[in-house]
Amino acid sequence: MPSPYVVAIDPGHGGSPTSDPTQLWDPGVVVGAVMEKEITLDLAFRLRTLLRRERVKVVLTRSTDEYVEISERWNRVHASGARMFVSLHVNAYDGDSSINGAAVLYPKPDSLPFAQAIDAGLAQALNRFQIQDDGVVTKPELWVHSDIPTATVEPAYLTNPRERSLLLQNDFRDAIVMGIFQGMLAADPQIEQTRIQIAHAEAAAAAQRQAEAASAADAARTATATRWGLIIGGIMVLWVVMRTAIRRAVRTPQPPPYRRRTYRRRRSNGKL
Ligand SMILES: [Zn+2]
Repeated sequence: MPSPYVVAIDPGHGGSPTSDPTQLWDPGVVVGAVMEKEITLDLAFRLRTLLRRERVKVVLTRSTDEYVEISERWNRVHASGARMFVSLHVNAYDGDSSINGAAVLYPKPDSLPFAQAIDAGLAQALNRFQIQDDGVVTKPELWVHSDIPTATVEPAYLTNPRERSLLLQNDFRDAIVMGIFQGMLAADPQIEQTRIQIAHAEAAAAAQRQAEAASAADAARTATATRWGLIIGGIMVLWVVMRTAIRRAVRTPQPPPYRRRTYRRRRSNGKL
């Protein structure tokens, strides 16, 4: 079976206050009751669903409300063998709620084509929501150790009222992850090729299993026939033995001993 294509997704921020005051936590941008860390985790799950349908193996840097250091997040990405990496966030601009739009950040020039592909997918998917495409922006301080195509996605502003209300809607969240997903497919044709290879290998394995099941059924039929042959043969032998035994046990009455009869020729004076 071909090994799956691996994608790493980082749901930005995470963690809640606990009884331990030394435990760090990070909700990200908070506007009213809306927290960035919850939106990013939900987006990660939705994106994972799309990728899994494409037979991609998805590794998340966190899958719960957990505080994870950036260095630890990168360790998890690196250990996964991922071939591309997307970090999910939502944007904020303090002091000006009119600031809006979608942007994709990338750490180094070698991630630029990947960031552009993600941005193009996102721009297309969010077009019907009138989200302005702010394009790609270099951000060298983010993911400094990255050695695979890496992009940080900021699909909308939580500080912008219109975009905030969109961010609370399912269809907008689905559009965000669809845009990222389309960008990933465009960035590396290997995702699609690996899916086809896996599908072919699975079909071949299924055919093999079917053939094995059919030959096992044949063998079972033969075994059943043999068993019936033995049973019937056994019954016949038993019948012969029983019949012989019964015949011996039940003595048939012997005819009375032969009695010699003497016939006396009657004289009849010469006349018969
Ligand atoms: Zn963030």
